[in-house]
Amino acid sequence: MASVRQARQAASRLMLIKEIYDALGGAEIVSIEYEGPEIAVYVKNPKFILEHEEKVKELAKKLRKRIVVRTHPKIRKSQEYTKKFILENAPEDAGIEDILFDDVLGEVRVIAEKPGKILGKGKAFRNLVLAETGWRLEVYRKPLMKSPILNTVLKHLQSYSEEIRKARREIGERIFRDMVIGTRHVRVIGLGGFGEVGRSCILVDTGESRVLLDVGLSPSGYGPDAYPYLWAPEFRIEELDAVVISHAHMDHVGLLPLLFKFGFRGPVYVTPPTRDIMIIILQDLIDLARREGVEPPFTNADIQLALTRVIPVNYNVVTDVAPDIKLTFINAGHILGSSMVHLHIGQGMFNLLYTADFKFYRIKNDKSTRLLPPAEYQFHRVEALIMEATYGAKDTPPREKAEEELIHLVNEVAKRGGKILIPVMAVGRGQEILLVLNEALKNGKIPEIPIYVDGMVREVTAIYTNYPELLVKPVRDRMLHYGENPFEGPTVVYVDDKSKREEALNASGPAVIIATSGMMNGGPIVEYFKYFAGDPKNALVFVSYQAPGTLGRRLQSGEREVELRFDNGIRRVKVNLEIRTIEGFTGHSTRSELLSFLRRLRPKPRTIILNHGEPSAIASLASTIKTSWQKLGFDSPPLVEAPDNLESVRLYPSNIRAKTALLYA
Ligand SMILES: [Zn+2]
Ligand SMILES: [Zn+2]
Repeated sequence: MASVRQARQAASRLMLIKEIYDALGGAEIVSIEYEGPEIAVYVKNPKFILEHEEKVKELAKKLRKRIVVRTHPKIRKSQEYTKKFILENAPEDAGIEDILFDDVLGEVRVIAEKPGKILGKGKAFRNLVLAETGWRLEVYRKPLMKSPILNTVLKHLQSYSEEIRKARREIGERIFRDMVIGTRHVRVIGLGGFGEVGRSCILVDTGESRVLLDVGLSPSGYGPDAYPYLWAPEFRIEELDAVVISHAHMDHVGLLPLLFKFGFRGPVYVTPPTRDIMIIILQDLIDLARREGVEPPFTNADIQLALTRVIPVNYNVVTDVAPDIKLTFINAGHILGSSMVHLHIGQGMFNLLYTADFKFYRIKNDKSTRLLPPAEYQFHRVEALIMEATYGAKDTPPREKAEEELIHLVNEVAKRGGKILIPVMAVGRGQEILLVLNEALKNGKIPEIPIYVDGMVREVTAIYTNYPELLVKPVRDRMLHYGENPFEGPTVVYVDDKSKREEALNASGPAVIIATSGMMNGGPIVEYFKYFAGDPKNALVFVSYQAPGTLGRRLQSGEREVELRFDNGIRRVKVNLEIRTIEGFTGHSTRSELLSFLRRLRPKPRTIILNHGEPSAIASLASTIKTSWQKLGFDSPPLVEAPDNLESVRLYPSNIRAKTALLYA
């Protein structure tokens, strides 16, 4: 049996090789290799490719595979030579900052103040560099802010290029294997984040292959209760084909390194910003845990190992991740790099859309200080939808109201000389709030008081400035055309060392302090809180969801004496400062936005699975969908499921589902 399969596999591979030779033979092919989800063709004559770019595109279309052409490492000139060549031939006023090499991809990356000057019109300089040095040139704009942690990690990762190359080959062999038993069914198994917010983790099983969507950590702690059910019988780590991470929030990516500690060596698919942000927050998690006196669930070595298996994929690029599963990331509008995950299963037998955390809103003459465009709602095919329901039960006030309320509060507290503490997650709310206050200050709506930004918010903000093309047009334009950094202002102080923290703690007048963590389970915000909690002049303002069990939630629900860890042990702290909650800044869709997404969603799914919400929120949304399906534009009532963790839902291709529906009718 196995030998027949091997023979068939060898034959189909020969066919593939022949197709590639027929199309690109003129480029003097040296080798053809699987590299993760791509087929890499190594050539000795890159000029042929430059002159026949359309041939590569046609071939990719014909084979329905991602084809990349790379120069053979032997024909690439040395890095020193290439660097010198670029510096001598690029326009002097381009402001070249740095030149980096990626051995794996055969890419030379030039970071410059004015990328347009280097690229000029057309591709002349790019082609010149390739022809002369064998390296493919990519030019990036110098970021408006630097992220030292990220840069160190990425540079360090370069020293693993041989291991990365080897890993990608193995991953490719697995993706393009001949199917063993084929797509037999589609099952969705809830391993975390069902009937709750936190530890998001979903196993999708087709019989042939298994893909894990997210692997998060609950905000309530670090122990096994905060982990997804990785010990469930359906989850066998050695059988896992791929991990897909929707976005870099702790409740979606927090336990990724643990998979590697447990022996996983497969691919992890993310968008490029998600990779950058998760590097920062995973490292931060180790520090946060230690400061809390807890042994972190994984080490830096586990993070490093995970990074060697990370495969960044841009939005809207269809990628093979298993013999019967194609993955596409689609903008989710929640945080930078956040995506909805579309899985095309079994040659079109089934299409599953996992929204993960998403923000759907309608742009109407929008003057609000939003950063990201709203989530997409049109797809080729969607038979089943897994949708978050964080705000399934209630609406929050409109964004404009929330902005007004925050500005009003800042004025009020500033007048009485107090400090305004705003706990934020490092990613998302931190940048939004900073933008709102910065704008308000510029327009004279709040007094000129210092805005201290502490914790990982700064590093992550730097990453936001690396991807202006993913931000809404007004912000992007300001950054690209005027070189303006929307996250800097005359009174913004990034707290990046101890002395600045001291300055923030001892500032005499009013000030705003934006700091992590968002739910106050550790992080610098707790340090500020210890210091400022006793004085009723000060205020603590919640602008995002507070999960049950966190310090944030306890304060929000009225606790006025709490136990906190100090250097010399645990002490009780009396809470006298004003505590306020401003709703409407959420990066999640509100109840009416969730319904409006369903109304606009094309095509309509037959099954809707609700997750990522407290049970009451899920129940409320489920009952609305069940009773109002006609208003939402469905032709027939969709099957609405609200499984618990450890439960599974079997999804049927449309024709069979119709039969089972009849049985239950
Ligand atoms: Zn999120
Ligand atoms: Zn989430």
